[in-house]
Amino acid sequence: MKTIFVVEDEHDIASVLVDYLRAAGFEPRHFADGEAALQAALTAPPALLLLDLMLPGRSGLEVLREIRQRSGVPVVMLTARVDEVDRLLGLELGADDYICKPFSPREVVARVKAVLRRMGDEGAAPPSRLQVEEASRSALLDGHRLHLTPKEFALLATMSARPGRIYSRAQLLELVYPDALEANERTLDSHIKNLRRKLATAVPGHDWIRSVYGVGFSFEPH
Ligand code: CA
Repeated sequence: MKTIFVVEDEHDIASVLVDYLRAAGFEPRHFADGEAALQAALTAPPALLLLDLMLPGRSGLEVLREIRQRSGVPVVMLTARVDEVDRLLGLELGADDYICKPFSPREVVARVKAVLRRMGDEGAAPPSRLQVEEASRSALLDGHRLHLTPKEFALLATMSARPGRIYSRAQLLELVYPDALEANERTLDSHIKNLRRKLATAVPGHDWIRSVYGVGFSFEPH
């Protein structure tokens, strides 16, 4: 059974999450403060941490930062603040996913499963349908060559390197326009739109790029 740490000082929220996780076949373990969770996670790493941002004592951010320095355990952040999401997912902190409060426990369980799926069973994962070759800047989807502009290629190569991971608009803008001042989110959205269209033309019937409202995008291979 996979152990999931639920690090949340609000007992009502924590106990609902614990119940749902247990019903889904996980072994949840509740911590009301960050320090205890951190020590436990470093001693005997769980399969995943659900980590609330606002905690007494050491904040969720501090715990996340320390875990990232010392362990590769997947972390899903719980936050009431959408404005924090960019930093949480950014390279400095590197949370694997986030969930905004208020949330439904069902959604939390689904996200936990999704993160575990893309982290864990890499050996068992089906062969990738997308082949990206950096050197020649070529991309094949199910054997169909994609005719991409350099910026579309950069976006696809980055997002597909970590399928399912959410990239914020700011991260992607930084990638395609590292030093341009005039680049804006609308420009990025139009590159994404074109990329989407090309992917859908090559292999229809699947939404390859997921939009995450107010945050950014992820590449979804399945
Ligand atoms: Ca809290």
